[in-house]
Amino acid sequence: MVTLCSYETTKLVRIHSVPLGTLKWILNASVLLFICLLMLWNRKYQQFDQVVSSVTAKVKGVSHMKLPSEGAVIWDEADFSGSLQDKNSFFVVTNMIVTKHQKQGRCAESPSSGRRCQHHNDCKQGAWDQHSHGIQTGSCIKFDALDRTCEVAAWCPVEVKSKPPRPALLASAEKFTVLIKNNIRFPAFNFIRRNILPEMNASYLRGCQRANDSLCPIFTLGDIVNRAGENFSTLAVEGGVIGIQIKWDCNLDHLTRHCLPAYSFRRLDQKESNKTLYPGFSFRYHFKSRIFLNVIIHVCQMNVRFARYKPVNGVEERTLYKAYGIRFDIMVFGQAGKFSIIQLILYIGSTLSYYAMTTVLMDWVIRSSCCVAEAGRNYSERKVESIPDKKECILCVSYVDEDDIRLVKMSHKKRLQDVKTVRVQARREDVGHMTATVCLLTDPQSSPLPFPKHCARPPSWCMCGGCSASPFPQEELCCRHSSQGACVAASALFDKLLLQRTLLEALLLYREPLAQTPPSAAALRRCAYRQYVAWRLGVPPVDTQPAIPRCCVIRIREAFPSPDGQYGGFTLAN
Ligand code: ZN
Ligand code: ZN
Repeated sequence: MVTLCSYETTKLVRIHSVPLGTLKWILNASVLLFICLLMLWNRKYQQFDQVVSSVTAKVKGVSHMKLPSEGAVIWDEADFSGSLQDKNSFFVVTNMIVTKHQKQGRCAESPSSGRRCQHHNDCKQGAWDQHSHGIQTGSCIKFDALDRTCEVAAWCPVEVKSKPPRPALLASAEKFTVLIKNNIRFPAFNFIRRNILPEMNASYLRGCQRANDSLCPIFTLGDIVNRAGENFSTLAVEGGVIGIQIKWDCNLDHLTRHCLPAYSFRRLDQKESNKTLYPGFSFRYHFKSRIFLNVIIHVCQMNVRFARYKPVNGVEERTLYKAYGIRFDIMVFGQAGKFSIIQLILYIGSTLSYYAMTTVLMDWVIRSSCCVAEAGRNYSERKVESIPDKKECILCVSYVDEDDIRLVKMSHKKRLQDVKTVRVQARREDVGHMTATVCLLTDPQSSPLPFPKHCARPPSWCMCGGCSASPFPQEELCCRHSSQGACVAASALFDKLLLQRTLLEALLLYREPLAQTPPSAAALRRCAYRQYVAWRLGVPPVDTQPAIPRCCVIRIREAFPSPDGQYGGFTLAN
């Protein structure tokens, strides 16, 4: 019941220190500054929405193209891009291989597409693979003066060239322009915008130039390719893919006219044509009378194969074009943010944990004691209350050559003088000891007992010369820790405080005022031990037992000997 109806809370330690207080405020202010900067920089107080967009592109341009064996031909946008305008992309033809006057028939396969042969046996009737122009008839015929290849049933003569001409036939497409229309929407905020701004009228669009107006939605193809870091005339030979990125980053808390597109360009396909199996980008289709009939294959290669058909003397003839070109992909991405109280609360909540860094850093500073020595020494003792395991007994030891007291684990195997120290801490003064001192000062007669001379040599662990070996290692403790010197039991104060019978009797009467009989030697010894503890150890820390050096025990036993020569141990309880 008690646990149910109770509330536990954390105990705090307050350290009064100007440097620590200043450091705390500096750290907290830095954390607050960091949180505020992060919030303003990343607009953490806003709710964000991703862009939804639609794009159309309109290419314009007319150019002369000198076709081999056909002369100059005028090409306009219907020829070089036609209905190949995909969603979010457009294609511009820049180069081509032309094969004229093809008729249905039988002819030799080109050596680059088919296999060379010596005999009819080398060719297989009905065979076809993806590189050949037709179906093999099974005979081996002469292709030219050097080569013999398998005969195929195909559109003859077959296309021979495999490399596009250099320089590109339509390199002048560099000057073509494209108008990009981009409508965007942020559904969460019901916000609509276009890249052609309301103030851009028809005369503006006719006259604007990218070079001095970054918002102009009309681009020349050469400019796009240059900004992507490529050379148009090189790219025009085999084709490629160029990405046009339109980025919208809108802050709807501000004026919406600041919500503007930013254009950037980069090449998307592999640049080194010999490193990829299919250079550039290509797709093939057939068309009749400048109208595309069907797209046959659409692969990752930038050339297009199409044909124009016309009847000549009742027989259908065609002209085959293999066109190379540049595909422009338009990618729109972006986000818009608007103030949201919920986002702000969530952000503040998520940053509160940063203040824990102050505590961690402050604790480290205090422990390393570089600012406040006194607080550092007592800090862990005050802050952490350690409760030792009941099974192990912690002894509290005082050496006359050290100010602090030491806590050591009791061992029955190792002598107490050599046991490793668990902790060192400051001594707490005992008020009872002060009372005894007052009694001592009022005592007029004091004659010190003579310090006995030991015949035997002191053991190796003794630093004071007053100890003797004991059968119990937990009793083997000297009054000094590390330096050789005088024994505390030989001091005048030791005699006055611990060995004066009148003082000890008075102290025993103080505890039991109505005791009739004079105290026994055992009671006097216990009283003397308590006097030692109060004098040298003060109030021993919680859960520890005081340990008394061997030299002092010997001295007390000599002053108040047991009649039967038997001595028991000493504990604070009795
Ligand atoms: Zn000693
Ligand atoms: Zn000693």
